[in-house]
Amino acid sequence: MVQEELGEKPYRTIDGDVKLGLLILCDHAQNRIPEDFHTLGLRPEDLHRHTAFDLGAEGVTRFLAKMLGAPAVISQFSRLLVDPNRGLDDPTLIMEIADGLVVPGNVGLSAAAREERLDRFYRPYDDAVGGMVGAAIDAGRPPVILSIHSFTQAWKGVPRPWHTSVLWDKDPRLPVPLLDGLKTIPDVVVGDNVPYSGQLKGDTLYRHATARGLAHALIEVRQDLILGEQGQAEWAAHLARVVSGVLQSTDGLNTIEYHGSHTGI
Ligand SMILES: [Zn+2]
Repeated sequence: MVQEELGEKPYRTIDGDVKLGLLILCDHAQNRIPEDFHTLGLRPEDLHRHTAFDLGAEGVTRFLAKMLGAPAVISQFSRLLVDPNRGLDDPTLIMEIADGLVVPGNVGLSAAAREERLDRFYRPYDDAVGGMVGAAIDAGRPPVILSIHSFTQAWKGVPRPWHTSVLWDKDPRLPVPLLDGLKTIPDVVVGDNVPYSGQLKGDTLYRHATARGLAHALIEVRQDLILGEQGQAEWAAHLARVVSGVLQSTDGLNTIEYHGSHTGI
C-alpha cells in the first residue's frame, strides 16, 4: 500500500559487499512529499532548502557506495513528513515549526495521522536499516555504520567555517581515525561535533549502532560544496580514500563493543 501511494518505497537500498564491513546511510536524502499531503501547506520553494532535506547528501552517498562497493540505505521522503533521524519520543520528530517556518500540515496532527506518517515512512526506513544491520551481523561481519548528511554554509547570517565535520557520541573507534583522515585533505577545515552534536538520544545511529555496539560516525559535508554532481563526486572520492584507509588500518572496528552514550545508556 505504501509503495502504491508513494509510487515507490520510502527508502532505496544499494547492494554492496557485506564482507567490506561497512553500511552507509542517508537519512535526509530527499524532499519528496506525496501529493496527498499537499506540500504540507508550504510553498514549493520552501521544499528546495535544508528545511526539507540535506542538499547533495544523496549524491555523495551514491558515489561513495559505488566507489567503495558498500551497501547503503537511502531514505526517499522529506524530513518534514517525519524525521527518520529522531527517536519516537523526540519533540522534533514531526516539526510544526522548521527553521522558523510554520509547517501548516504538521500543526495539530491527530494521533492517527501521526501513526500513518510513522507507518508509511519512518518504520519502513528504520526496518530496512535494522534489516541490513542484522543481516551483516548474522553473516559474521558486524558493520561499521557511516551516515552522510549536509549542513548549510551559514546559520542566521553567520558563515560556518568547516567544510566537513564528524558527529559522534561516546564510541571513538571510527570517529577518531576518521577525523585524523579527514584532516589530511588539503585546505579543508574539519569540525568535531559541529554544527550539531552526535549525542542525540534516539537518533538513527543511537538506535542502530550505539544500542547494538557497532562502530559508527556521522559525516556532515557543507552544502555549497556538494550542490552539483562534480562536487558530490569530489567529496565522495575524498571520503572513499579516507574511509577505506581507516577500515584497513584500524583494529576492532568490526566487532560488537558497547560504549554507551552521553545521553544516558
Ligand atoms: Zn541531515
